[in-house]
Amino acid sequence: MSTLLNPKFGKYGGQFVPETLMPALIELEEAFVASRTDAEFQKEFNKLMASFVGRPTPLTYAKRLSEKLGGAQIYLKREDLAHTGAHKINNALGQALLVKRMGKKRIVAETGAGQHGVASATAAALLGLECVVYMGSVDIARQEPNVFRMKLLGAEVKPVNSGTKTLKDAINEAIRDWVTNVRDTHYLLGSALGPHPYPTIVREFQSVIGTEAREQILLEVGRLPDTVIACVGGGSNAIGVFSGFVDDGDVELIGVEAGGSGIDSGKHAARFGDATKAKVGVIHGTRTYVLQDADGQIAETHSVSAGLDYAAVGPEHAMLRDNERAFYTSATDEEALSAFHTLCHTEGIIPALESSHAIAEVIKRASTMRKDQIVLVNLSGRGDKDLNTVINETAKNL
Ligand SMILES: *Cc1c(COP(=O)(O)O)cnc(C)c1O
Repeated sequence: MSTLLNPKFGKYGGQFVPETLMPALIELEEAFVASRTDAEFQKEFNKLMASFVGRPTPLTYAKRLSEKLGGAQIYLKREDLAHTGAHKINNALGQALLVKRMGKKRIVAETGAGQHGVASATAAALLGLECVVYMGSVDIARQEPNVFRMKLLGAEVKPVNSGTKTLKDAINEAIRDWVTNVRDTHYLLGSALGPHPYPTIVREFQSVIGTEAREQILLEVGRLPDTVIACVGGGSNAIGVFSGFVDDGDVELIGVEAGGSGIDSGKHAARFGDATKAKVGVIHGTRTYVLQDADGQIAETHSVSAGLDYAAVGPEHAMLRDNERAFYTSATDEEALSAFHTLCHTEGIIPALESSHAIAEVIKRASTMRKDQIVLVNLSGRGDKDLNTVINETAKNL
């Protein structure tokens, strides 16, 4: 069978999976390629994006934040207002429609912060699919409200107690389940990661963010932004918003990774930011930048935001970084928490801790820019899920 899409992003990406999974990846790729030119599929997807997800999400001018920083004009793309509170639903719904198209009945998903688990459980309930979500037991403890949500939506949440009991271990278990049940099960991967065709599929379903944001900013200010900023966990919200501007060479693209307790502390998830630990490797079916120890073992990561706490980054970001089409930086836990409070106070928006990393970067750079310049920040999600974390972290610093 012919490969229909390019499986690589420069020297990154690919399909490093056991033979038993190749038929499922090929089936998925064929279903995806066919869906792109299938008017019925596109109609159903677009209809649900509007009537169920609530798209288009608004573009909000952050007037008080812009004035406070005294430089560039800041606009927020409001993925926090999408149903279930983050951008994850765009991809979950798109893939769930592909599952129906492939005639499968069951999905497995991994989740870190719980947002992708909630989005998957939501899409499964909407379309009548069975849903099993793997989640590290450490993440279950720190994201309890999302665990309840998944259960209420009819999903089975399976705790993972291996390894560091976080996202990477949940992905391992989801893949194990998928290998065992591949005939009737689809692995609904939640970020722009994993073996081809996942990074391409996830980007395409998230590209709605960039497409809308581009139209909205042109309508509102009559020109493109100077800079686009997004946080980067696996990289799906960033690649989604970047995709709307990647062909506009003058628009600067900035990804913000989790700086944790600081790069020097070793406790972070800055895959591009740590010159000693960031190496190219293969993880979960793809070749990309992976934080590794001296023996090549996957390094432990840390971030105050569970959604950014992963040792690898999507392969397309690795390519964009190498060819300098996008630039990557990091924000520490402390900077993200401070940005969280700033956005709450100045704009009346409680952001997700992941998104707060992007806000931290705009706080650093807006004041160095001219007043006639424009920064677009992708606000990937809302902070309701993070209230316990923020209260505990804030108490620590009192
Ligand atoms: C999951 C999540 C992220 C990180 O995932 P990406 O694939 O990098 O987008 C960022 N923000 C929110 C709100 C999330 O839920």
